[in-house]
Amino acid sequence: MNLDILIQKCESTGALSRDEILYALNLDSKTDIARLIGAADAVRKANCGDDVQIRALVEISNTCARQCLYCGIRAPNTHIHRYRMPPDEIVELAKELDQKGLRTIVMQSGEDPYYTAEMVADIIGKIKRDTQMAVTLCFGERPESDYRLWKQAGADRYLLRHEAANRELYKALHPDSDYGQRMHCLHILRRLGYQVGAGCMIGAPGQGVEHLADDIEYFRDFQPDMAGIGPYIPHPDTPFADHPTGTVEMTLKMVALTRIVTRNALLPATTAIGSIEERGREMALEAGADVVMPNYTPLKYRVHYEIYPNKRCITEDPAHCDSCMRLRI
Ligand code: SF4
Repeated sequence: MNLDILIQKCESTGALSRDEILYALNLDSKTDIARLIGAADAVRKANCGDDVQIRALVEISNTCARQCLYCGIRAPNTHIHRYRMPPDEIVELAKELDQKGLRTIVMQSGEDPYYTAEMVADIIGKIKRDTQMAVTLCFGERPESDYRLWKQAGADRYLLRHEAANRELYKALHPDSDYGQRMHCLHILRRLGYQVGAGCMIGAPGQGVEHLADDIEYFRDFQPDMAGIGPYIPHPDTPFADHPTGTVEMTLKMVALTRIVTRNALLPATTAIGSIEERGREMALEAGADVVMPNYTPLKYRVHYEIYPNKRCITEDPAHCDSCMRLRI
């Protein structure tokens, strides 16, 4: 395969075949990878402009009913302190963020049935009534009726990482979850009118380059409105504690290819890549990403939302996070 022709195709249409995706994922010289990243940066500039979108992340609960084998807040982990933010505190925080000029709140949680559909709808309704902010939800798999109620209450976007487009890999990482149901949820969310975010980890246990190609093909075919891509980082209290961390290089190739095949999707420079490499988020922004998500979870809760260890910005004051993030951009 000819790299010049591939780069040209990346910049012009992004309609890459599986062979072309695999070729790009297997690039190993620094110069060739830089060309792929440069193509993604050009696609980002042409389709999204130079603005970096800022999303205020609020982790409302670290309680989760699921057992995903890589996740530090999985249900069987008894070594963490579980918390739930009371609904009133969430709404008050949203009002403060609105006053600071933030335009989107991303409410994230483990799969926590404590928050009933009605409770969440009430929170959304109050935020929409009292602020100008767009509301993004990241609460995992829920019944269609919940998604519908939240959309009616004013929710704008829903993030549900697909985690692995390959059915066998998905099953190997998620012993108590169903691949078909995951995909079904993503389709329901789109049908209900949400802007839908998918995403995956890079370097997960058992994942090879063919699996990553499956993910890029999924992004190409599903065309999510957002895609979260970060490296796998092992957590000591999980069955995968000894598996090595995903690499910065492969994560950047995946960010770049996702930009190339989706053209205008919102792509966060994830905290995870910033956690394994000091300049990780800046590098992701140079490889096609265009969103940052500073963490506005109150400090007393934030330290307990440990999906993986040594997470960046876990103890900084939100005001410091905000100015640090703007400086980095
Ligand atoms: S990845 Fe999500 S659903 Fe799975 S255990 Fe962690 S918080 Fe729960």
